[in-house]
Amino acid sequence: MTQPERYIPYGRQTISEEDIQAVVETLRSDWLTQGPAVERFERVVSDYCGAQYGVAVNSATSALHIACLAAGLGAGDTLWTSPNTFVASANCALYCGAKVDFVDIDPRTYNMSIDALREKLVKAEQAGCLPKVVIPVHFAGQSCEMEQIGELAGKYGFTVIEDASHAIGGEYQGVKVGSCRYSQMTAFSFHPVKIVTTGEGGMVATNSKNLMEKLLRLRSHGITRDPALMDRASHGGWYYQQIELGFNYRMTDIQAALGVSQMARVDEFVASRNRIAQRYNKELAGLPLILPWQAPDAASALHLYPVCIDPNRTHLTRKSIFEALRDAGIGVNVHYIPVHTQPYYRNLGFIEGMFPESERYYAAALSLPIFHGLDEASQDYVINQLKVAFT
Ligand SMILES: *Cc1c(COP(=O)(O)O)cnc(C)c1O
Repeated sequence: MTQPERYIPYGRQTISEEDIQAVVETLRSDWLTQGPAVERFERVVSDYCGAQYGVAVNSATSALHIACLAAGLGAGDTLWTSPNTFVASANCALYCGAKVDFVDIDPRTYNMSIDALREKLVKAEQAGCLPKVVIPVHFAGQSCEMEQIGELAGKYGFTVIEDASHAIGGEYQGVKVGSCRYSQMTAFSFHPVKIVTTGEGGMVATNSKNLMEKLLRLRSHGITRDPALMDRASHGGWYYQQIELGFNYRMTDIQAALGVSQMARVDEFVASRNRIAQRYNKELAGLPLILPWQAPDAASALHLYPVCIDPNRTHLTRKSIFEALRDAGIGVNVHYIPVHTQPYYRNLGFIEGMFPESERYYAAALSLPIFHGLDEASQDYVINQLKVAFT
């Protein structure tokens, strides 16, 4: 099989003529920074997910940061997340001066394990160090078991912030991820490698008016123009007050216009990811690979298609398969190096061996190309090169 001329990445954006027109129109308008397109994008995403409110920001990293602050996370508090995630899901706690700890993953879904979470909560209650915030990460686009997490949140009194950076368009119990049915807030990423893009961008979805108002302030310096929140009478029409410490995490209207245009095709994006995954499921079944497991009550948005090299069925290493595919022009990748094994986290006291399921998964994992614009011929090439690598 001949090698395609272009390098095949593991993920990439699809930009249509409509997307380009939407951005050009914004450039000709009065608003470049946060304006009417940002409000439209917030409405489109929150309506799509079935949440009451959306607060758009310049990245999911910013979304997670201000969601933690809005949840009241601060010095002396602890946040728990999954080690099998991008570092941003844990860093947000450190930005707030809080501590981080991890809950190991379920070996089938690679999401936070409910059994591990329950056990850790029992011990933390005895030791008097329950978490204030838990961030379940919907790895690869498949929802965590949110009903169980919601129950535990009620029992132990923590706030749940879903990291749905991989999962817009995914469903859990027949409802779109981001509805916040079992959580207080959900964070999305619109980085180009994710499902829907704004270049860079993020959003927090919530059903709480109070949290929404806090998030709006935190994304723009902690400033309010609401007289009811001021400690003295307004000086006039120009007057505002900074009532807490916020940031400049605003999204531009240029980005939001792209986002609104992209959201018109979110279902199409997820559908083609599903078609690609189904072809992989069928064509790779004979190889010594553990293919992604689909939980019966979730529909994955399939941001990633992660396979594991099965050590019981081959002596070939993940590294050798990775290198063979990279040499063939295929941009396979590995998601994720467990966060607790990063030097920054080791310096905080974490050591290898603490979260064995996520370490075992990492040792074998490989993410194959999956994105809306991946055509059948390119996918056939990937499948063929994988078969060649195993012979
Ligand atoms: C991409 C990603 C983030 C960060 O998203 P940005 O928009 O790049 O800040 C956070 N969490 C997870 C799980 C991600 O995949």
